[in-house]
Amino acid sequence: MRKRTGSIKIGGFDYAIFADDEVSIGGDRNVYGYCDTQNLEIVYYSRLKEEKAQQVILHEVLHAVMAHIGIQAEDEEEFVLSLGNQLHQVLADEGFVFKIDTLD
Ligand SMILES: [Zn+2]
Repeated sequence: MRKRTGSIKIGGFDYAIFADDEVSIGGDRNVYGYCDTQNLEIVYYSRLKEEKAQQVILHEVLHAVMAHIGIQAEDEEEFVLSLGNQLHQVLADEGFVFKIDTLD
């Protein structure tokens, strides 16, 4: 089941953030989240621990940012993965968290 847990503005657009019990991209269920820039949604796997959920949301935010500024990279996933993980570590150490509702 999908549950709205928050929202975030990216590139002037209001994205809804959802936690979902099932997350897949093109049938691949081995993913933690995805970003839908058409429907302005960020979705992450609901069973992630909060810190991992925060990392996944940041990762998807970076995909959205790249889409909105029009950057296309062949190795986007690798770039976003590295940048997101590093940025998450810096921000987490500084106490930054996305405001998401983790209550059932
Ligand atoms: Zn990605």
